[in-house]
Amino acid sequence: MPFHIFNTLSRSVEEFSPQNPPEVTLYSCGPTVYLPQHLGNFRTFLNWDFLKRALKFDGYRVRQIMNITDVGHMTSDQDDGEDKIEKTARAEGKSPLEVANHYTELFLADWDRLGMERPELFSRATDHIAEMIALIGRIIDAGFAYVTKSGVYFDVERYRGENRFGRLSRQSLDEQHAANRLDHSRDKRSPHDFALWMLDQPHHILQWPTPWGPGYPGWHIECSAMAMKYLGETIDIHTGGMDHIPIHHENEIAQSESATRKPFARYFVHSAFLVGKEGAKISKSAGKFPLLSDLPGAGIDPLAFRLFCFGAKYRSELILSDEGLRAAQGNLDYFREFARNVPAEAAAPGAETPGGAETHYERFHDALDNDLNTPQALAVALDLVAESYRRQDFGGWPTLLTFDAVLGLQLGHYREMALGATISPEAQALIDERAEARRSRNFKRSDELRKQLETMGYEVKDNRDGATEYRPRRI
Ligand SMILES: [Zn+2]
Repeated sequence: MPFHIFNTLSRSVEEFSPQNPPEVTLYSCGPTVYLPQHLGNFRTFLNWDFLKRALKFDGYRVRQIMNITDVGHMTSDQDDGEDKIEKTARAEGKSPLEVANHYTELFLADWDRLGMERPELFSRATDHIAEMIALIGRIIDAGFAYVTKSGVYFDVERYRGENRFGRLSRQSLDEQHAANRLDHSRDKRSPHDFALWMLDQPHHILQWPTPWGPGYPGWHIECSAMAMKYLGETIDIHTGGMDHIPIHHENEIAQSESATRKPFARYFVHSAFLVGKEGAKISKSAGKFPLLSDLPGAGIDPLAFRLFCFGAKYRSELILSDEGLRAAQGNLDYFREFARNVPAEAAAPGAETPGGAETHYERFHDALDNDLNTPQALAVALDLVAESYRRQDFGGWPTLLTFDAVLGLQLGHYREMALGATISPEAQALIDERAEARRSRNFKRSDELRKQLETMGYEVKDNRDGATEYRPRRI
């Protein structure tokens, strides 16, 4: 069965066919780095890690870009209020850059703890100002934006029509904006118009010169400019949280398509929320929200949270509960115990698989191809382990390891560590990459890889003679 996914554009599960197979271009809306990312944010990011791995399982090569918003995201998703980063900077007495760097580091550390593959690039908005200014120029030239004293605005009225605003959300502009108080105070032609570039904001710390005057970008234009720079004018898959549908993604489509006259993204895929027990969205505005760092104290491994999310369909709400997290921890322990129990001969390369494993493989594959049905895939993986115990036949281990390329529990690595073997193949690949990075004096990459290895449980010691020692810590 080919891969199928629910496309918000058509409101239906579609067979997936990328523009240039086996390449898949994937743009994922990333974090605004002004607070720690909470578990709800990470549920969304995890879903894209599952999506990417499932596509790779199908033989695709996935090129993923995720933005890091370090300027221009206002306290409302429209243009109102304060810039979130600058608000935190003022409150903490730091510069916007310090705030962004601090929360980006936290974000990346949690990212690695959750066993997520890093995208080809985390693109920072402030590194792409030139691309944003160029894109805004194109939109003005196409007649869909205008300049006033307070900003460069997208002209929503000019962009009305079939297949334009509301295509994604299937809502009228009034409906999309129903939850927000619209800002009539600025010199916009319509309250629905949104800022591509903010002008005349002398109190904003970050400012860049443009043909229209100094200022800073709006949040929506950042994603369009970075997606197009790295993935082309039409991307295969664009992902985000369901809260991005009505404003952020509608605006991204409008800006991009008015400039290029080409479809911006062929598949829009959206993740449902992680919710509290009472069904409320776990969000930053609700005050206290759980963080990944809250879990180890409760005896929950970060990878158990990963498995907890894997156990739910990406477009269904998931209730965060102690019972749910403990059950996921139980499943993680079950997989790990199996990994420890597999005898050496069953783990040797080329070991036979038992009769059942082939059908397990098919079922696992079908589940993923069926609109990324991860709970069903998880059930197949658990069943493979149960079946192995029943038959006292550990020949399913290599099959479980192929599943783990999507589950992402690092079970092969765990087994090596638990049995006290020296270095796992996964770690060796990172060690080789790090040696190469050090040779080419790419210290940023080498540092990233060191942190990744430490997260995996290795001690990394760079000696003065240029050699490096890697030692696993026993589990
Ligand atoms: Zn975005």
